[in-house]
Amino acid sequence: MDDKEFEKLRQEMVATQIERRGVRNQRVLTAMRQIPRHFFVSPRELEQAYEDHPLPIGEGQTISQPYIVALMTEALDLHGNENVLEVGTGSGYQAAILSMLAKTVHTVERIPSLAERARLVFARLGIENVHVHVGDGTLGWVDAAPYQGILVTAAAPYVPQPLLDQLDIGGKLVIPVGARYHQDLQLWRRVAADQYHHETILPVAFVPLLGEHGWNEKKWQEIDF
Ligand code: SAM
Repeated sequence: MDDKEFEKLRQEMVATQIERRGVRNQRVLTAMRQIPRHFFVSPRELEQAYEDHPLPIGEGQTISQPYIVALMTEALDLHGNENVLEVGTGSGYQAAILSMLAKTVHTVERIPSLAERARLVFARLGIENVHVHVGDGTLGWVDAAPYQGILVTAAAPYVPQPLLDQLDIGGKLVIPVGARYHQDLQLWRRVAADQYHHETILPVAFVPLLGEHGWNEKKWQEIDF
């Protein structure tokens, strides 16, 4: 497949999977039309890069379904001046979308090889406002806080307190919260220093957020619920 064919698939993906399902934010739609998703998938999955489902990216992890990426991004309602934190870099695709919509993006990944691969793709695409960090993202990334937007792309048992603390007043946090196979995608708003509101967007199924304020890796493997 050549670039033109990928381009065609990408435009179709936005029209049929994203716009048709109700994502209306033009900046989000433009970013999804421009970022070449096939750069972020493994060579084996190249032909499926624009299909309507998540894909494996190695290390037991996934690149999320395009619609979910769009929906989570739209929920942050970014205007271009924000400092954003993503927890769970994975392939780097979500961070690349965010890079077009915010001023700076800090993204934290616990698996070093995935972080390194994402860094290489950003360099290839000339994306310079994404900073990739290796670590436990349930602790946030305090050095660059506060964040006007935080997006967590792995399933949490509860909202990690450090993320609530690092959210700016007026900022938004999008996170899947719940059990092993089913979570609610939640949108949190920090409306005052000590006041948060939250609502549920829709049911989702993500890989686990493992870490100090997430799931315990060993327990996650043992539990079958
Ligand atoms: N946003 C990614 C993308 O666009 O490809 C998809 C992320 S994948 C669904 C979830 C990622 O979260 C995995 O790469 C996983 O290693 C990572 N992860 C899980 N727990 C984490 C933690 N505590 N800190 C940072 N990353 C974590």
